Amino acid sequence: MEQFDYVILGAGSAGCAIAERLSRSDSSRVLVLEAGGSDRRFWISTPIGYGKTFHDPEVNWRYTTDPDPGLNMRQLYWPRGKVLGGSSSINAMVYSHGHPRDYDDWETAGNPGWGWKEAAEYFARYERRSGEAPPSEAGPHLWIQDREDEFHPVRKYFREGAEEAGLQSAGDVNGENPSGIAGYQFTTYRGKRFSASDAFLKPAMGRKNLEIRMGAMVRRLQIEDGRATGIVYRDRTGTEVTVGAGEVILSAGAIGTPLILQASGIGPGGLLQDRGIKVNLENAAVGANLQDHLGISYFYRATEPTLNSVLGTWYGQLSIGIRYLLFRSGPMSLSVNQMGGMVRSEPDKERPDLQLYFNPLSYSVEKKGSRDLLKPDPYPGFIMGFNSCRPTSRGEIAIADSGDPADAPSIQANYLSTDKDQREVVAGGRLIQRLCETDAMKKLISGAPKTDLAAMSDEEILADFRDRSGTVFHPCGTCRMAPREDGGVVDTSLRLYGIDGLRVADASIFPNITSANTNAPSILVGVRAGEIIAGNAG
Ligand SMILES: Cc1cc2nc3c(=O)[nH]c(=O)nc-3n(C[C@H](O)[C@H](O)[C@H](O)COP(=O)(O)OP(=O)(O)OC[C@H]3O[C@@H](n4cnc5c(N)ncnc54)[C@H](O)[C@@H]3O)c2cc1C
Repeated sequence: MEQFDYVILGAGSAGCAIAERLSRSDSSRVLVLEAGGSDRRFWISTPIGYGKTFHDPEVNWRYTTDPDPGLNMRQLYWPRGKVLGGSSSINAMVYSHGHPRDYDDWETAGNPGWGWKEAAEYFARYERRSGEAPPSEAGPHLWIQDREDEFHPVRKYFREGAEEAGLQSAGDVNGENPSGIAGYQFTTYRGKRFSASDAFLKPAMGRKNLEIRMGAMVRRLQIEDGRATGIVYRDRTGTEVTVGAGEVILSAGAIGTPLILQASGIGPGGLLQDRGIKVNLENAAVGANLQDHLGISYFYRATEPTLNSVLGTWYGQLSIGIRYLLFRSGPMSLSVNQMGGMVRSEPDKERPDLQLYFNPLSYSVEKKGSRDLLKPDPYPGFIMGFNSCRPTSRGEIAIADSGDPADAPSIQANYLSTDKDQREVVAGGRLIQRLCETDAMKKLISGAPKTDLAAMSDEEILADFRDRSGTVFHPCGTCRMAPREDGGVVDTSLRLYGIDGLRVADASIFPNITSANTNAPSILVGVRAGEIIAGNAG
């Protein structure tokens, strides 16, 4: 059997960073097993391709949640990246650390050393902003770009409206004080997506001691005498292969990671017995504590042209296509999420409770199974939307009856199952209503909005949300970092309680969801894991 020092399962936001760090020393032989394939695809590198990869089974796991009582038994579509770079290769590229207090919450949940102070130090090590030169010292770096000057001009109404509505302005969503409205920053570079694969994996690919196997679907871990000693995966031909590992690092994401653990007999005892899986370690928290941001879009017709007029006509598409090919700029090089931020629904809230989005385009009727950003509404339109920053509803993930992580799992999100989450939905609806009533936004809104919040009772706002809301694609928390007695799965060095030679490092270890988008904290977990395992943490 082939033997590696480290085997990393999943080449996503976290896994890419870990692979780069552990393969720096040529004395370690590192293997990465990734179920998906190469990310060298036009629609991955081109930012507007987000709409194309959204449903593409070649690069996307395409999960579906169980019928959810909080959403009138609706099932939601949950895309997840299945390709080098993982979800960072198919995401909307918005880059946000979240709120500093999120990390302090991680620390106070029993995880010393994981507070904002340390997080900020790590971010500063590898992030590089527009205009900055790449670092001269060796080491990978992640490009973060502030592209507000290229955003659609109608953003000015939103900015002014937000100010009129009493929302503060954040100079920089990733700055010292990130609360307030700002232009979103993106993981792009020279007009192309800059994923975790671009930042960390590609610079390391030439190393002789790093091997990346794609199309490798991990089935389960080999556990012997309380130690993870190897991995069983299925290769592209369907053949089962076993490799040995000095240490296994599980980075298959908030869904894949608990599924692999459950398939390996690590998880809730009742579930494992029910599926006929031999129990290696009982821990009810594996797959539990699932958190996500649930959001809604409100659609408006506009009094002046928006991106719809450009993306929805052949001459508009031609002009942005030429601009992109010649200069790598313009709408094809940007995320559709342009303005927004973490805000307080009422000034007396001690910290931001809602995340806002303003997108200068609208696609109010979506064909099922498609999200074609090049087919917006045939009139000028835009979207405003929100999600609650720190929902308190908790769900769970359970492996399929077959016990195979490749089969569709049960995802019970339990959205809107707490009073707080329901109250925040009403607060969000009322905040969007306040924005609509500002002089600035009145200039942009044409006619009666599709959803007239001003005419709706609180109950109606919540009912509409239950009917129409969707995931903002931020599942996390399913293998929580916390003391064992508090429902933890891993300790502060990301070691799995009860099994040696096994760590978990990805969005599944978040003790609590961060207040904004989750790519930045997932990469942070990967970078920190690499340092911890290499013995350099500090
Ligand atoms: C459509 C979409 C839009 C998003 N938009 C944004 C955004 O704009 N900004 C933001 O910050 N965040 C966004 N996110 C969320 C963000 O990208 C994720 O939170 C983050 O990438 C998670 O990182 P991870 O390392 O935990 O998992 P992932 O990056 O998902 O990586 C997990 C990897 O493990 C692999 N894997 C899983 N199971 C197996 C198995 N059994 N065998 C082998 N390999 C396996 C997967 O194929 C994948 O490559 C979005 C996500 C999606 C899906």
